Amino acid sequence: MLARILRIPSWLLPLVLGALLIAAPWLGISAGTRRLLLLTCVLALVASGLNLSFGYTGELALGQTAMYATGAYLTGYLAINWVNDLALLILVAAVAALLVGLVSGVPGLRLGGWSLAMTSFFLVLLVPQFLDLLERFTGGAVGLVGIPAPELFGSRLGPLGFYVVVAVLTVAWFALIRNLITSRHGVAFQVLRESPVLASSLGISVYRMKLTAYAVGAIPAGIAGGLFAYVDKYLSPHSFGFTMAVTVLAASILGGAKSVYGPLVGAAVMQYGPLRSTDFEQYAQIVYGIFLIIAGTLVANGLAGLANQAIRRLRARYAPPEEIPRSTDPGELPPLTGARLEVSDVQKSFGGLRALGGVSLTAEPGRITALIGPNGSGKTTLLNMICGYYRTDAGTIRVGEQDITGAATHKVARTGVARTFQTPLFPEHITVREAVAAGVYMPHYVGMPSSILRLPNYRRAAAADRADVDAVLRLVGVTHLADTEAASLPLGTRRMLEVARALVSRPKVLLLDEVASGLDTDEIERLADLVRAIRDAGTAVILVEHNFGLVLSLADTIYVLAQGELVATGTPAEIQTHPRVLAEYLGVSQEAKA
Ligand code: ADP
Ligand code: MG
Repeated sequence: MLARILRIPSWLLPLVLGALLIAAPWLGISAGTRRLLLLTCVLALVASGLNLSFGYTGELALGQTAMYATGAYLTGYLAINWVNDLALLILVAAVAALLVGLVSGVPGLRLGGWSLAMTSFFLVLLVPQFLDLLERFTGGAVGLVGIPAPELFGSRLGPLGFYVVVAVLTVAWFALIRNLITSRHGVAFQVLRESPVLASSLGISVYRMKLTAYAVGAIPAGIAGGLFAYVDKYLSPHSFGFTMAVTVLAASILGGAKSVYGPLVGAAVMQYGPLRSTDFEQYAQIVYGIFLIIAGTLVANGLAGLANQAIRRLRARYAPPEEIPRSTDPGELPPLTGARLEVSDVQKSFGGLRALGGVSLTAEPGRITALIGPNGSGKTTLLNMICGYYRTDAGTIRVGEQDITGAATHKVARTGVARTFQTPLFPEHITVREAVAAGVYMPHYVGMPSSILRLPNYRRAAAADRADVDAVLRLVGVTHLADTEAASLPLGTRRMLEVARALVSRPKVLLLDEVASGLDTDEIERLADLVRAIRDAGTAVILVEHNFGLVLSLADTIYVLAQGELVATGTPAEIQTHPRVLAEYLGVSQEAKA
């Protein structure tokens, strides 16, 4: 019985709860409870926007309160002075909030770092001043009074009708957000939170993606504001101050910032708990502050995180997934073409430290070019220069006919340069299949609207991606792990997954940074076969590696770097006997050999 319940698909429960939320008035709830549910929906919508930018992309931004205020006052004012049509005004509120999101997000995100947190924080602090300044429209400190009861398409909505509209909109929003988060855009958000370096190396523009998350997150705040204007038909600046910003943050963190439905839980707890009491207001900020510190340290993933963890444990115990046999079917390599990589006289200094002093290197398609050298000799730095993560001080880098010197990382990725990292990078809570699929963010890109609405072109692209990804998973021999959390796997498997992720983007140039370190002999053998297959398919492979034996067996050409300078170049046979390599890199002195 329990096993049966634990096996129901994960979308079913939210669907049932959503239907219950909409049908609540017919289940004999009081008018007071209905109002609390209304306010829960409103707060959940605002917090859901925060989850997108803060929870999913990892950019702390508190501007949602400003967007919420924009939606509320605009709707209130227009309902009094223009037309009182709920559908139209909610649309206006959503668009206005989106604009506020874009305008307030651009400068903060352009500057990077903590700038958006700061600018959005100040934006929220300024809301009451703005409302005062625009007193003619907002009623200033007195508030905006006389908002009429809502009308929808010409007919008046009673309290019941209004409740149903709010509940339906809320359920619809959460369904769309779920689609967004489970699409490749959602995975891209999470990749971004894990590591901007990783995200850009997969072709994701960090700036655009963060702005998108922040701006899309503005939409539910605007809608919530519009709805809130009709709840009491009165708006006061008190509802939009710093306390509101902290309330939203508390609802998000309590419910689970990295979860789709968490804000509903967080908002319900806030509405039924602290926000209910009117005496509470004067202590609100202190209580929230303490609460946020406790919640932030104890339940990092909020109530939704706790629930997920409990379900996962119960599943593992009472309804373990059926054992998927390890596939013996060797998957196929995706069709690959290569491009020549040419690094000419590239220099890079970090402060006074000269990391690369004029390095030139050519990697031919269909060849493995190894780059070896002691720790700190500049190998990773050179890969970072090729990827556009660091700017060159001098020199040029070309891929095929294209000059990529100074191009942004995500643009370099889009020319067909893929890489793996010295420390494998995988976001938490992402399955192996999703993690590997993240590698194809750019080639057949389907827009966010299609993804959210699951239009036919999204379904087609998703099916094609899935087939590609499954083939690569077979190739790498991890089909049986497809639904396991990638970040929880052993190092050896994660290294193979990084190669798999790079492969699905069909790289022309593949950069492997210390890809064999930490692997056992079997794994190294499998990896070597895979790298040879990629080479034979035509990709230019650059292999940075410490395992000298592996390098000798794999490489067609070897470059030896020491203290940022090339000391030798040649075939494995030449390098193996090169006196300087023996002396400097392998630590064998000439006399010892003699
Ligand atoms: P390798 O990968 O060959 O072990 P790296 O390329 O990581 O070496 O490092 C080369 C040198 O550049 C080292 O001395 C390292 O400390 C320095 N370095 C690398 N990245 C940075 C950075 N972002 N800032 C300052 N120094 C750096
Ligand atoms: Mg390195």
